[in-house]
Amino acid sequence: MSAVAEYDREQIAALIEEAWRQQYIDPDLARTLAVQARDQALLRYDRAALAEASLCLAYCELRYGESEPARQMLVELRPLLLELDNRRALLQLDYGLAVIEASRQDAESAYVRFLELAAEAEQTGTATDRFLIANALGTAAAEAGQQETGLRHFYQALSLAREHRFGPQLALVLSNLGSCQHDAGNYQDAIRFLSESFDRMQTERLDALAPLVAGNLAMCQLAMGATEAAFETVAAYLERPAERRHAARGDQAFFQAIAAHTFAVRGDWERARQHASLALVDAKACGDRRLQAHAWWVSGLVERGLGNAEAALAALRQAELHVGGLNDLYYPIQIYLELAQTLSTLERWQEAFVYLDLHRELQQQSQGSATRVRLQSTRIEHELLEAERERDFALLKQAEAERARRDLEALNLELQRRMAEIEALQSQLREQAIRDPLTDLFNRRYLQNELHSELRLAERRHYRLCVVLIDVDHFKAVNDTYGHPMGDQVLIELATLLRANIRGSDFACRYGGEEFCLVLADIDVAAAIARVSDLLERFRAVRVELAGQTVERLSFSAGVAEYPRDGNDPDSLLRAADQALYRAKDNGRNRIEIVEAKLAVVEW
Ligand code: GH3
Ligand code: MG
Ligand code: MG
Repeated sequence: MSAVAEYDREQIAALIEEAWRQQYIDPDLARTLAVQARDQALLRYDRAALAEASLCLAYCELRYGESEPARQMLVELRPLLLELDNRRALLQLDYGLAVIEASRQDAESAYVRFLELAAEAEQTGTATDRFLIANALGTAAAEAGQQETGLRHFYQALSLAREHRFGPQLALVLSNLGSCQHDAGNYQDAIRFLSESFDRMQTERLDALAPLVAGNLAMCQLAMGATEAAFETVAAYLERPAERRHAARGDQAFFQAIAAHTFAVRGDWERARQHASLALVDAKACGDRRLQAHAWWVSGLVERGLGNAEAALAALRQAELHVGGLNDLYYPIQIYLELAQTLSTLERWQEAFVYLDLHRELQQQSQGSATRVRLQSTRIEHELLEAERERDFALLKQAEAERARRDLEALNLELQRRMAEIEALQSQLREQAIRDPLTDLFNRRYLQNELHSELRLAERRHYRLCVVLIDVDHFKAVNDTYGHPMGDQVLIELATLLRANIRGSDFACRYGGEEFCLVLADIDVAAAIARVSDLLERFRAVRVELAGQTVERLSFSAGVAEYPRDGNDPDSLLRAADQALYRAKDNGRNRIEIVEAKLAVVEW
């Protein structure tokens, strides 16, 4: 009807992520999403996305479908993942294959394989990968009869799930841990974990986990004699076929067996029989020995309750057959007891006694192991609590250190800003200290210092240097006639003129009032007089305008002193220049003089 919408890379990634999440909630939806992601990846020729989508799809098949197609998909996916060098996905692929393999081989071999993968996960895996492998190690160890080792792995998985706030995985591992405790006969701890798992499964609506989690809880409730509670646990999931359809085949077989047992305990033998036969169908379909032993045992129990002792015995023989290779004690204990009772119903006393003996023997072993497991659990929980506390403490310290570091950084920045401000202020002050504010020429203080160093330089390089004092003629009259602001303006104009007409190696200062000083480097008195004459000529041409008034025909008088002829130091040179200036004033102003009276170079 409508064109197929094309998804971009991020949308495909989001589809895959949602598909993984839905595996614990609605496996059918998970599969639909994964297929959609795979189709979109194909449409875009996006091989990386194709690989991710195919992996997710294989896991849907692995968890809720048939193991052979799942294995096929994983094997076919390997070359692509190798080519893409997607190490993480390769780890997931290997884990999936190991899970399939584990159902077909003995628990010890499975355990060894998962140990290898755990080492790999330390390198390339995420927390989720490490969780799944720890959980698988727990299952394999428990199935190998190594309850204590199993507990250790389950506890490790539990702490990973709690640390990383994995919702579904937490419910899953709590359920496994509880089931492991149950099988070891440690009901007190078992019920604690199973109840928490059940609550999480309900509040997070992890429907796909319901058969496993509810089954485990009810099983423990039955073992503790809480028949009504077990019935309530089971009943909630009996009438929800839609969810049962989603669940893994093995989990369904387990749940049906527990449901059958629950009805049997209540004396509802017909319902019990219905569920027992459903359990058998599913258990056979998934080929798991433990589940088949469980289903046959419950069938036997139900048949005896219905008065069919022969049928019961046949079922229990099947159960005994399947329990043969198993390492844990729970199922053999139950099956031997049930066999003893059935045989005594049939008045086959001798055989009944043999099974009763076997039952007692295993029961004693189990009680010993229950105490050990309980002790062990307490110890592990204590250790984990310690580790958790240490981790939280370390995190707290780290956060504190981080905060302190950030504060320090902010402080540093502020300090740098302030330093720059101060620096700017200081350089401004330095400038102000050597500048005259009206004319922006250097001031007298600067002159004193600078003249000193200029003289030293001149001495070292053996050149001459001239100091010129300039004084505006009849300046008072300008002020008196035109006002002080006009006087200021005249000073500014003269300063501008001086600054514009000296070389880079020279400098001009405001000496005070209407007096200025020039320091001219590497020049003799004759050249200096020529330069100042030029300045005087320019000044005489200046017209100063302010507020509609004009001042013209300005002039200055100047005195020139030459180093080393007229002095060796600033004071003597300035004094000599001042004497020459006096002479210029005496001789009628508007002229330039040197120290010796006879040398009036310029006359106007
Ligand atoms: P002479 O030709 O003998 O140098 O006569 P003069 O009037 O220039 O000399 P005098 O020393 O009598 O006057 C200098 C005047 O300069 C007095 C003072 O009020 C004025 N003056 C000093 N500094 C400033 C200033 O910054 N602005 C203005 N407008 N006037 C100033
Ligand atoms: Mg003066
Ligand atoms: Mg003057």
